[in-house]
Amino acid sequence: MKKTIIISLIFFLCLNTFGQEKKQNNFADWEIKPALVVAAKNSKAPSDAIILFSGHLSQWEHIDGSKIEWPASKKRFKILPETKSIHTKKSFGDCQLHVEWRVPKNEDHGKKMNYGNSGIYFMEQYEVQVYDSYNNHRKIYSNGQAGSIYKQYSPLVNVCKKPGKWESYDIVFTAPQFKDDGTLKSPAYFTVFHNGVLIQNHVELTGPTTHLKYTEYKKHPEKMPLLIQSHGSAVEYRNIWIRDL
Ligand code: MG
Repeated sequence: MKKTIIISLIFFLCLNTFGQEKKQNNFADWEIKPALVVAAKNSKAPSDAIILFSGHLSQWEHIDGSKIEWPASKKRFKILPETKSIHTKKSFGDCQLHVEWRVPKNEDHGKKMNYGNSGIYFMEQYEVQVYDSYNNHRKIYSNGQAGSIYKQYSPLVNVCKKPGKWESYDIVFTAPQFKDDGTLKSPAYFTVFHNGVLIQNHVELTGPTTHLKYTEYKKHPEKMPLLIQSHGSAVEYRNIWIRDL
């Protein structure tokens, strides 16, 4: 008899908890009012985006603080190989980035595994690789090809166009968070669309991207600059915009 009462009590508690959960799931949120944002056609920036390139590189500088040496026209700019990478003067944390890039058409400088090599580094240390992965003879390890999170995640598929054609990345980046004692509170995440196709689905980073597969997080500021890598190839960029999240 006592056993039956205990079982009934547990059953009742479970039922009650489930009911509460169901109620919470049905909660209608009238408090949050998502801001109205006007989307634009042709990958142009939506109304709340910060434009990072529109004909001049005034929002960027070389990583040593010097003025940009790269040639820029109204519509695009090009990496001058053998010069330093560039980064934004402004800092960012969680964000959505749109960037268009194209690798050189007839690049053949004899440097193996360096074709169209560049990269978008969030917080100057978490890289989404830019590379010529259309040409099979220009092979690189898969977690180093275009769209990889360098040395950590290969892209789900290869969406690369022929060299000389413009490509796009739409990237959602979640910045890592750190506790006061410097240890990791939550890791960084990437979701990446390459030419509109999902290639990285909320992947969790093991640390900064380097030539090593596993690196450890080191506490850094909540916001840091965005960096475009100069890696010996004359990759071009255009239409770069970012949304703070
Ligand atoms: Mg790179």
